[in-house]
This record gives sequence, C-alpha cells and structure tokens, in this order.
Amino acid sequence: MANPIYDALPTTIFSVMSGLAKELDAINLGQGFPDAPGPLAIRQQAAEAVLYGDNQYPPMPGLPGLLEAVAGHYARRQGLSLDWASEVTITSGATEALACAILALVTPGDEVVMFQPLYDAYAPMVRRAGGVPKLVRLQPPHWRFSRADLEAVFSDRTGLVLLNNPLNPTATLCPAADLALLAEFCVRFDAVAVCDEVWEAVVFDGRVHHPLLAQSGMRERCVKIGSAGKLFGLTGWKVGFVCAAPALTGVIAKAHQFLTFTTPPNLQTAVAWGLDHAGDWFETMPADLQRSRDRLAAALRAEGFAVLDSEGTYFLNIDLPGSGIAVDDRSFCLRAVREAGVAGIPVSAFYEEDPVTTIVRLCFAKRDETLDAGAERLAKARALMK
Ligand code: PMP
Ligand code: GLN
Repeated sequence: MANPIYDALPTTIFSVMSGLAKELDAINLGQGFPDAPGPLAIRQQAAEAVLYGDNQYPPMPGLPGLLEAVAGHYARRQGLSLDWASEVTITSGATEALACAILALVTPGDEVVMFQPLYDAYAPMVRRAGGVPKLVRLQPPHWRFSRADLEAVFSDRTGLVLLNNPLNPTATLCPAADLALLAEFCVRFDAVAVCDEVWEAVVFDGRVHHPLLAQSGMRERCVKIGSAGKLFGLTGWKVGFVCAAPALTGVIAKAHQFLTFTTPPNLQTAVAWGLDHAGDWFETMPADLQRSRDRLAAALRAEGFAVLDSEGTYFLNIDLPGSGIAVDDRSFCLRAVREAGVAGIPVSAFYEEDPVTTIVRLCFAKRDETLDAGAERLAKARALMK
C-alpha cells in the first residue's frame, strides 16, 4: 500500500494556512508570494513564446539560452564562473532541483546534515531517498550554528549537507564566517553540500549574498540551487536552476531526466529574457520589499509586537512572549485566521523535533493596504490572546 513516509506526512502548512485564509476570506500573510502580478515585460515574453515560440520538448538540461543567461547572471551578480553547457541544469522549480539533488546524491544509509528550522520539503525527501537526517537546532534571535554544533553532527557517515541561505523562515543570512566554517567541515568529512539559495536576490539594508559554492574547497563539492520564482516574484512559474561542477551536474541530470525531463519552454524563454534584460530590477525589487518590510514592522511595533530582524526573504517574524502573547505559535495562527481574519505561519512547522513554538512568520510581499489591514487584524488577534 502507501509508502509509510508519505502516508504519515501531514499536508504542508503552506496549503493549510492558504486554504483557511481563502475559506475564511482572511488576509493571507502566510504562504510566501507577492500580491503583485510580477514584471509585465517578462510575462509578455512568456505569452509571446506560448503563441509564437516552440512549444515542444526543450532539451533535457534546459534551453541553451537560459543556461547561458543563468551562468551570465551569476557571473555578474556573484562573481561565479560557471560553464553553462556542463554546470547548469534547469528544473521545474527549486523543489524539483532539491529532489534531483537529494535523489542523485544520497545513498541509503548516508547521514544528511540539516539545520532546523528547515524548509518543510527537506526531511521527507531525504528520508525517502534513504538518508538519515542529522539535525542542528537553530534558535532565535540569531539563528546561528557553532563549531560545536557541527562537531556533534558531522562524521565519516556524512554524505550530504543541506543548507538554506538566506534562511526561510528566519529571514537571516548566514554570515561569511559561518559559511567558511561549514565549508571546512564539508572538506574535512568529504561531504557534498546542497545550498538552497532561492532567496539570494531578496536581501536588505545593503547586505550581500555569498554563495557557498565560492567558499574555499567547495567548487567541486557544492550544488547551488536557485529559483526564477523568487528572482522575479513569479512564484507560480516553477523554473529552478541547479549549478554544480560537471561530475555533480551529470548525476543530478540523471535524476532530472526521470522526474520531469524538462520545464515548459515558454517560461524558460521568458526567464532567460528577464535575466538578460534585468536593468535595475535586482536593486529596485529588494528596495521595494525593504520598504514593505519596514511598513509592516513599524505597524506591528506600534501595536505592541516584538518584531525580529529580517535580513532577507519575503518574511519577518514576531516573537509571541515578547509581544505579551501567552499561547504557542500554532494556536496563535489558527485563532488569528479564524477569529481575527489574518493568516501567518507557525515557525514550529519547520522543526522535525524539539520545535521552537514562540515565533510566527509573516509575509510582507504585499500591497500597502494589505499590510496595514494585516497589522490591524494581528493587533486584534493579540488582544484576544494576551
Ligand atoms: N526552498 C525554499 C527555502 C523556499 O522558500 C521555496 C519556496 N519559496 C522553495 C525552495 C521552492 O521554490 P520553487 O517554488 O522554485 O520550487
Ligand atoms: N516557499 C513558500 C513559503 O515559504 C511556500 C512554497 C509552497 O507553498 N510550497 O511560504
């Protein structure tokens, strides 16, 4: 009958909260997506490609034009030198990229180092591939790991490390020193790192994203994952990028060929155009989001909420006890959506064990009116649960 790992899985928290928000006509600050439609020029390119372009199977690794555009983008933005023909693969979203990397690189029995809070897809995919999760528990307010944390989980059995940077849901960037520390452990234990960098372009206050791939010793042992959905605020598009040295790319492509084989060519064409014609998008997009972050943070602080720093992503977090709220994160979210008409995400959903239950994640990639109304409703929720 059903595979026991999938049989035991709950529905993802993102679907649960978006479903409740829709059903109850609540303001949805839960699942991470903008309420703007995304850049018109890129959507027009996609429409043109559907109407007048080639709609048959594109090449399995991706359209050459997009492979080149991805390599060019990372050369310009992050100083990486990637050979587009042998080191880039296009997948159906970062989700497929993660599945490809995990299926292709985990051998049953391998230990896989991961950091909690962890994106909810990671642990089930690792287990399904036969990997054994070794979890480092990160905590607010800094959410950092230490040398001792890594000493406790790395061993000769470590096959893979899975890092998300910038980190969803904490909205933090891994400091360069911590990336170097992780690289040191990967080299010492001969482990491959999969770095989920889907939020790489959404960083604030002049911060710079550093790819793990660029750390010393990582060029041949790091898989970098990106997502056009996050680069352009088109989250439904599901166009992902996998960048890795040729030997890793070769085996990952074998997983990709039997998961989806390809990704819709029209969307690939439009994403390539977007990367090649980005103009000042990668400056204005995070600047606009930073303004939204500040607007929501200020409104929440004025209502008595304790707001944690948000260094990147579409998210900011509120601390419930610091906000004078006496219930746990899940209860707060369920009551807030039902009784105050606003949806958030309980951060405990990102823990496999021993969850932090005091933090709620809110998505600020929304219009000003939505943010203002959301803050008002959250204030109502706070008053109900003080
Ligand atoms: N990884 C992380 C950390 C994410 O936050 C998301 C979605 N926002 C994904 C992967 C999935 O990306 P995609 O929609 O491109 O599959
Ligand atoms: N990454 C999005 C978030 O963190 C959700 C993606 C999904 O719904 N699977 O909200």
